[in-house]
Amino acid sequence: MIICKTKSEIQGALAKRRQAGETIAAVPTMGALHEGHLSLIDVANEISDQVVATIFVNPLQFGANEDFGTYPRTVESDLELLKARGCNFAFTPDRNDLFPADFSTKISVAGVGEDHCALSRPQFFDGVATIVTKLLMILSPDVAVFGEKDYQQLAVIKRLVRDLDIATEIVGAPTVRESDGLAMSSRNQYLSVEERNVAPALYKALTAAAEKLHSADHNWSEIRDASIEQLLGAGFSSVDYLHFVDAFSLAHIEKVDRPGRLLAAAWIGKTRLIDNVPVEAA
Ligand code: AMP
Repeated sequence: MIICKTKSEIQGALAKRRQAGETIAAVPTMGALHEGHLSLIDVANEISDQVVATIFVNPLQFGANEDFGTYPRTVESDLELLKARGCNFAFTPDRNDLFPADFSTKISVAGVGEDHCALSRPQFFDGVATIVTKLLMILSPDVAVFGEKDYQQLAVIKRLVRDLDIATEIVGAPTVRESDGLAMSSRNQYLSVEERNVAPALYKALTAAAEKLHSADHNWSEIRDASIEQLLGAGFSSVDYLHFVDAFSLAHIEKVDRPGRLLAAAWIGKTRLIDNVPVEAA
């Protein structure tokens, strides 16, 4: 695996592969890699000749009171994991190479980038959209793979690529879970042993709610209220939101008359977890 720290290094290395007629898939990450991230490398390897993973903790997507300073940084072991998984290139840029002191551009995606997670993290999707646009401009990959774990983020990225005519295909990959259902996340390591035992209740509540949506004797607002009670009863401290949305537009819906998605964010102590599940059309 070739490790590049600068834009010019990675661009030079990828240009050679492109000249040799090979296709390139990108997998952007913030590091602290787990099996969820590595599953994206597998998907990328299946659909492309060369795979480039990026590791960059993006300051733009963290709010002033969020965990930018304490976000886990484990670059050396991340590089080992990527290499073992058959990743061909790792791009580990410095903040200064990506963001000159007078950097002043923001990519903002209305509609799918509003509501849901944006309600409590107003800076988040602009930060994601801006860094992903930059990475796609730098790498010009044929394909980029993102996890459905961050479902609204995936929708934002698909929309910006379409709207800005960026010539990269965006591929979504399924959420990888622990054996008890908890979606893998770099932030799970913030959980105490007690909190870790509470955490799988989020996926349980979502799958139960998705099932109930298909039974005639429940309506969405009852299901939502009961699910929130279930989460608080299981030990979650608070529920940021639990929304039933159209799987493509992310607009709120109440009936299973089209492909839908349940999206949720909830706090256990100081840790905010997100998850989502599909709701098939009836
Ligand atoms: P992050 O490092 O959290 O920014 O995530 C980098 C990429 O990995 C994003 O596309 C995430 O959606 C994806 N990802 C994170 N956790 C998982 C998971 N449990 N399963 C699948 N993909 C994931």
